[in-house]
Amino acid sequence: MMDPEAKCPECSHILNCWHEGSDAICKCINCGWEVVTSYFPPIERDETIYTVFVLQNLSPSLIQLRALSRITGKNYVETKKLLGNTEFVLFEGRAPEVLPIIEKLKEGEIKFRISPAFDYE
Ligand SMILES: [Zn+2]
Repeated sequence: MMDPEAKCPECSHILNCWHEGSDAICKCINCGWEVVTSYFPPIERDETIYTVFVLQNLSPSLIQLRALSRITGKNYVETKKLLGNTEFVLFEGRAPEVLPIIEKLKEGEIKFRISPAFDYE
């Protein structure tokens, strides 16, 4: 990532940097020097494989079953069976893939944990 305190290579004035979509732009207001690079947000650069565990729920509500069935692709009976475990692995993948799953779990008020610690919620 571009250092927010980066200095102009031409005149050493402090650069103004900002993001526009997937571009990172730095511009010197003193001499007009500018550079455009690709901007990848931290979540895109994170190579960690995260594991999402769903925690036990012996009396899930219909809302919870529906939300979870949508993610697992299983029917309600199978999904309820999974929830009888102390916990089960729902998903493994990189942060950008984990994020939408977390959103669905939260919407469905489903208890879960992520390993290792997930910093993008
Ligand atoms: Zn400059």
